[in-house]
Amino acid sequence: MGLRRGEVIEMSWDELRRDIKDCNGCMLFHTRMHAVIGRGSSQPVVVFVAEGPGESEDKKGIPFCGKSGIVLDSEIMRIGLSYNSYYIANVVKCRPMTVDFKNRKPTISEIDACYPFLARQLSLLKPKLIVLMGETAKTVESRLKVDLKDINVDFYSMIHPAATLYRRKLYLLFRVCFDNIKEKLSDKYSDNSLDGYGNI
Ligand code: URA
Repeated sequence: MGLRRGEVIEMSWDELRRDIKDCNGCMLFHTRMHAVIGRGSSQPVVVFVAEGPGESEDKKGIPFCGKSGIVLDSEIMRIGLSYNSYYIANVVKCRPMTVDFKNRKPTISEIDACYPFLARQLSLLKPKLIVLMGETAKTVESRLKVDLKDINVDFYSMIHPAATLYRRKLYLLFRVCFDNIKEKLSDKYSDNSLDGYGNI
């Protein structure tokens, strides 16, 4: 059974955090160590949205704290995003795992169950740009465009950081995507008008 959108649409940050931690809206709660909510600024210019926690994230409760996090963080630094200008979240908050304890993609029903949390999280964060990383994140784009129509946010889709780990060509593509993000932001905010958006 999933959450109904109406149940989360008015939640404060505290309520949202509590409800994510206590959630039993899909089967993933049975096997999670931590529900992984997000990390970064509460007033970001950019929010990066990926798929869901892996093993390291489930253990620590922090998104992208494993190998793909190193790739992601280094690109974020390379394009000069300051610490208080970005936030990282996932489509599903609990780790999807196979019966032999490997990471797997979330199912459509797991995505649907968790989606209202992401929509509320983004409506509280009010970013200027949402970067959807990978196929799973891309699946929620059309819903987000409707649900976030009041906050005037741009979307950009790119490959998932984990795709770069063993394929140099994809790593180069990943860097190009970050160059594009930098360009998008520079075009839009060349007047330095954004609080927290320091040094791009
Ligand atoms: N992959 C994801 O999609 N999210 C994480 O937080 C870590 C790895």
